[in-house]
Amino acid sequence: MSNETGILHVVATPIGNLGDLSPRAVATLGAVDLIAAEDTRHSRRLLDHAGIDTPMVSLHEHNERERCASLVARLAAGESIALISDAGTPLVSDPGFRLVREARTAGIEVRAVPGPSAALAALSIAGLPSDRFAFEGFLPAKDGARRTRLDGLADEIRTLIFFVTPRRLAAELQAAAEVFGAERKAFIARELTKNFESGYSGTLSELLDQCHSDASMQKGEMVLVVGGAEPKPDAGETDQLLRILLDEVPLKTAVSLAMQISGLPRNILYRRAVELQQQIQPKGEN
Ligand code: SAM
Repeated sequence: MSNETGILHVVATPIGNLGDLSPRAVATLGAVDLIAAEDTRHSRRLLDHAGIDTPMVSLHEHNERERCASLVARLAAGESIALISDAGTPLVSDPGFRLVREARTAGIEVRAVPGPSAALAALSIAGLPSDRFAFEGFLPAKDGARRTRLDGLADEIRTLIFFVTPRRLAAELQAAAEVFGAERKAFIARELTKNFESGYSGTLSELLDQCHSDASMQKGEMVLVVGGAEPKPDAGETDQLLRILLDEVPLKTAVSLAMQISGLPRNILYRRAVELQQQIQPKGEN
């Protein structure tokens, strides 16, 4: 990479609490030649708070396509640019993807200055499995499209994370309860890092009831985290795996190995292994 090209820094900013603006974010935003911001007026408040007077240009969903070329040209000419969105991590349901893609295509170095993101902040406090998760952004606003999206996620075993628009919370909880089942565990993180931060845990139907009885739950910014579906073993594949293992090793070891290979829960595999073992004729028997 040429030393003469600039660097594109993708900088995360607070999702409510200005104290979450990291020292490295402040240093980067103060040092670059230009800040590309989703909404320059909104970000001016943050920059003023941090004593930063770097020039800004807007980069939002309506102008990203045409603005990319000039920003990449400036990077190629040696200027350094920081990309920020209104809150949190750029590109996460926010503009910036095209700019990063085109900068990379042009051989520009792109660096992350990581920090707040509402999706991960919500997951980190949800008390739902966090080793594997799927971020689903906003659900479609229209009932039919929302239903189709949820139907496609009904068997997803990973924890699901959705951004929610407050006025759609009740409809989305209702639809999620219908598709995933009323008893599916979920969590709503509201107003994270702000004065009225609150978290609501329960089943989807409990959260829906609470949403109907507590109007404050439908105000502010929020993230919905939904526990994954119970894994459904693929009977054919699981049986084949267990049969091979049971042929070679004792039942307990077979179950442990099958667990590591398939990711299915021990109790499901154990039950099936016992059934299969009863069917398998011991070696040497006629
Ligand atoms: N890029 C941002 C990020 O990394 O957090 C998200 C931008 S997206 C346009 C805005 C959505 O993020 C909101 O509608 C809400 O679902 C969620 N969100 C942002 N700030 C939040 C907060 N303080 N508390 C809860 N949810 C928040």
